[in-house]
Amino acid sequence: MKILIANLGSTSFKYRLFDMAKAEALLAKGGVERIGSDKARSYAATDKSSSEKFGTVADHAAAVEACLALLCDPAMGALKDAGELTAIGFKAVHAEGMTGVQRVTPEVLAAMEAYNQVCPAHNPPYVKAMRLLSEKLPHIPLVAAFETGFHQTIPLSRQLYAIPRDWAKLGIRRHGFHGASHRYIAERSAQLLEHPKAKVISCHLGGSSSLCAIVAGKSVATSMGFTPQSGLPQNNRVGDIDVFTLPIIMMKTGKSLDETLNLLANKSGLEGLSGAGNDLRDIETAAQQGNADAKLAMEVYIEAIRHYLGAYLVALGGADAIVFTGGIGENSATMRSAICANLDWFGITLDPQKNQQAQGESAIHTNGSRVELWTMPTNEEIIVARLTKSVLA
Ligand code: ADP
Repeated sequence: MKILIANLGSTSFKYRLFDMAKAEALLAKGGVERIGSDKARSYAATDKSSSEKFGTVADHAAAVEACLALLCDPAMGALKDAGELTAIGFKAVHAEGMTGVQRVTPEVLAAMEAYNQVCPAHNPPYVKAMRLLSEKLPHIPLVAAFETGFHQTIPLSRQLYAIPRDWAKLGIRRHGFHGASHRYIAERSAQLLEHPKAKVISCHLGGSSSLCAIVAGKSVATSMGFTPQSGLPQNNRVGDIDVFTLPIIMMKTGKSLDETLNLLANKSGLEGLSGAGNDLRDIETAAQQGNADAKLAMEVYIEAIRHYLGAYLVALGGADAIVFTGGIGENSATMRSAICANLDWFGITLDPQKNQQAQGESAIHTNGSRVELWTMPTNEEIIVARLTKSVLA
């Protein structure tokens, strides 16, 4: 049972090929970067071979086609032909009136298209690639595992915004995202803690970031809302903001609503605050070199994370573990140390040496810490593969 898992970003496409019948063996992984340019980089690796090519890849549909051609190359030894695929699973983001894991049908595509504006970087390329594949490979089932799916267990009291009741019928509520990542952390931390009912706070900190409170493997609160633009400040997206600032910003800058939303979604967050780029490594370097804006941007980000951390410690009545994942969560000892500073009263004590040396799955708390602290690489693709397998069954 070979399942290809596709993860589409605005200009990138990453995939993994699993054999679910053989202990979830990873057969191949690869992707395409800089889609839409004539310098696109396509790469793939199996245990037999690896390959890298540069050239034009016009769009996401062309990227998926290029990936299939590479996987079927005898030198790679991953697939004899595309017909060998049992299914293609997509880490899809959001659709109107729909969540969970779904076989891709015209109705699913229409529901995703209806939210093109809500997820402009993700939904249009997903819909395009899915349409092309369903035409070219009509016999291979396509499955969408929505990022909102894991958060369906959040109680209504934490889903609803305090808006007129009728608007909730329009789907205006907190949906939450990063579902595949938080689900993986929920499952893996329950194994590592040997505690299936554990209370865990999953901190997915990366290009985009969210926190999720988990009890017994289920999401009970999360920081992103109706769109992935809200919650924590993101690399270049605003995060939480008082909506009543919008008319003031528009009036004082002379910008239209579309222009203002575009700036909030693409030129805000850590990039907007720091002026030192949207990559935390660059911002950390700038801060170390004395750039006050970069230092403040990091402080705003840290405060926002601690704000949700505090909220979830209260919501859960304490936690068994706090887990750091994502590019920042896994790699930045500085950020983890700042996030956990002065929390001894809550039973949270980071071990500085373990924190510095953490790699992969590592416990980074002191022996006396009541709450366990971990770094944990996430594996969103295996979650989507399992969900895809379950929907086919
Ligand atoms: P995405 O959310 O786009 O999948 P990642 O989870 O890969 O992204 O996270 C990307 C972020 O991780 C970037 O801001 C990058 O600076 C940050 N990052 C990666 N490695 C490090 C590191 N060693 N120290 C600090 N930040 C890091």
